[in-house]
Amino acid sequence: MPALPTSCDLLVVGSGAGGLAAAVTAAALGLRVVVVEKEGCFGGTTAWSGGWMWVPCNPLAVAAGIVEDVAEPRRYLQAVMGAQFEAERVEAFLAHAPAAVRWFAEHTALQFVDGNTIPDFHGRLPGARTGGRSVCAAPFEAGVLGPLLPLLKPPHPLMSWLGMSIGSDLKHFLRAGRSWDSTAYVARRVLRQLAERALHGQGRLRMGGNALVAALLASAQQRGVALHAGHAVRRLRVEGGRVTGALVSSAAGDHTLHASAGVVLACGGFPHDRARQRQWFATTPHWSAAPAGNTGDGLRLGEAAGAALKADDLADPAAWAPCSVVPMPGGGTLNFPHLLERGKPGLIAVDANGERFVNEAGNYHSFMRARFHKTQGREAQAWLVCDHRFIRRWGLGAVRPWPFTLGRWLANGYLRRGATPADLARAAGFSATGFERTLAAYNETAREGRDPAFDRGGTPYDRMQGDPHHPGPNPCVAPIERGPFYAVRVVPGSLGTFAGLAVDAHARVLQANGQPLPGLYAAGNDMASVMGGHYPSGGITLGPALTFAWVAAHHAAGRVLPLPAPALETASEASS
Ligand SMILES: Cc1cc2nc3c(=O)[nH]c(=O)nc-3n(C[C@H](O)[C@H](O)[C@H](O)COP(=O)(O)OP(=O)(O)OC[C@H]3O[C@@H](n4cnc5c(N)ncnc54)[C@H](O)[C@@H]3O)c2cc1C
Repeated sequence: MPALPTSCDLLVVGSGAGGLAAAVTAAALGLRVVVVEKEGCFGGTTAWSGGWMWVPCNPLAVAAGIVEDVAEPRRYLQAVMGAQFEAERVEAFLAHAPAAVRWFAEHTALQFVDGNTIPDFHGRLPGARTGGRSVCAAPFEAGVLGPLLPLLKPPHPLMSWLGMSIGSDLKHFLRAGRSWDSTAYVARRVLRQLAERALHGQGRLRMGGNALVAALLASAQQRGVALHAGHAVRRLRVEGGRVTGALVSSAAGDHTLHASAGVVLACGGFPHDRARQRQWFATTPHWSAAPAGNTGDGLRLGEAAGAALKADDLADPAAWAPCSVVPMPGGGTLNFPHLLERGKPGLIAVDANGERFVNEAGNYHSFMRARFHKTQGREAQAWLVCDHRFIRRWGLGAVRPWPFTLGRWLANGYLRRGATPADLARAAGFSATGFERTLAAYNETAREGRDPAFDRGGTPYDRMQGDPHHPGPNPCVAPIERGPFYAVRVVPGSLGTFAGLAVDAHARVLQANGQPLPGLYAAGNDMASVMGGHYPSGGITLGPALTFAWVAAHHAAGRVLPLPAPALETASEASS
């Protein structure tokens, strides 16, 4: 890797979606850009993510004939966000997000696939849609990265198999052995992966968030962005009230880097910053699924330079998700977010009393909110429970479905098993009498595909998470009755954080007096959530990350994007 230069136009700190999207845009607009990444490889949480971006009115939906007025997503956001609806930033997001997708598709290696059948999380609220508001990074052939390929972060070790990046093709892996098409698809992918591992040490086909990072890295490389992994920003340089660069540390020592057009902070929020967790989370300890390198550096760097933080007036400080703590083969643990199996038919969640507390098929953020609400800040663990039929069909957390075996998971204590419901409760540590009562009540109506207690399967989002091939009337509901029975403990976790640096609609970081801190921008989760700490739909972190990175880069390049009406006044102030 060449030495870090001493000067550039724009310094980007962090190499997830926020950082790389800003870097590629700025380079395309003619700036000399440096990206520094403190980990040994590029990609951050983004490289482990599903790669879904919430972008209402996006060009792929429009091309498919799904045309809606921007008033509809606005109405939906108003309904979800209530008092946290910040009109100027939300309008900027709604106006710029489709334009950003179009721009990346036309000017970079990043291509998109549509999410035209993916419903919003809160299907009963006004303005909610059952599809056409999401896009995902298209699969990407990462071989074009050449010598940079080993520096692309590998897929999440617990969400891949043989190191294979799995994304929208997960359905084939779950149907292998049941459908000829899926079996043939999986066989082809496995053969390709084995061949590429033998030849190149790793697979080249990347999906989801890994494809998003790979495509942006490829474009960054093509456009001459200087990419430096293993380099951490320690301090911002502030001269005459303006951010003009940073002190960067690497194994080679400390370097001062001047950045004439400013600095973009994109360090991925604070999911592993213990002090901030204690300050802002109602319940600690916390087990985030984000990579360990996301320790809140961006917030600290900004604050030390005079930036204001936004936390207390958000609905939630983080994107909650139930996580299980997985013992890893080489020692240590990894936090696994339970995003998919909770909606499949034949699973419920119970607390220490053996009682249900939520519609388990609902979104991960609402699941944890319900848990926090019930426990009022006390220990918020719970157990996901299923029977033998379920675990062999769908797996449970890190435990994979048939033909993978259960032995390792039972031996290391991650998975608990009991011949009867009471045996399972005793093995896992929740109330046996409570659980027997809960299970009897659940099973009675589940045999008819109903869940009167919590309405599993009651919204389009629930049903998408269910099993479309389930023979019963409700794709999310089946009885849990064929032992042995299994449980995995889940604890409070997150996919990332919502609290962050206060910014304006141009992604400029603000000071406590509400004025921009000249030369400083934030993107991705370093920026306080444009959703006000709410979770309206899947993709509400990566959609805004891509959009506001694009907006920030335009501003830094002196190509200020006009704000949509009714915020025109602010736009002209900004460009003057
Ligand atoms: C399993 C999983 C699935 C998910 N799926 C989705 C999804 O489909 N859609 C969605 O919207 N969201 C999803 N999320 C959340 C999403 O991945 C994150 O919100 C998003 O990736 C954050 O992007 P970012 O650019 O802010 O940060 P990151 O991608 O985390 O990148 C930040 C980078 O900054 C680096 N860094 C930190 N400090 C420094 C420093 N001092 N100097 C230099 N570099 C530094 C970090 O090492 C890191 O590489 C998912 C999360 C998980 C865990």
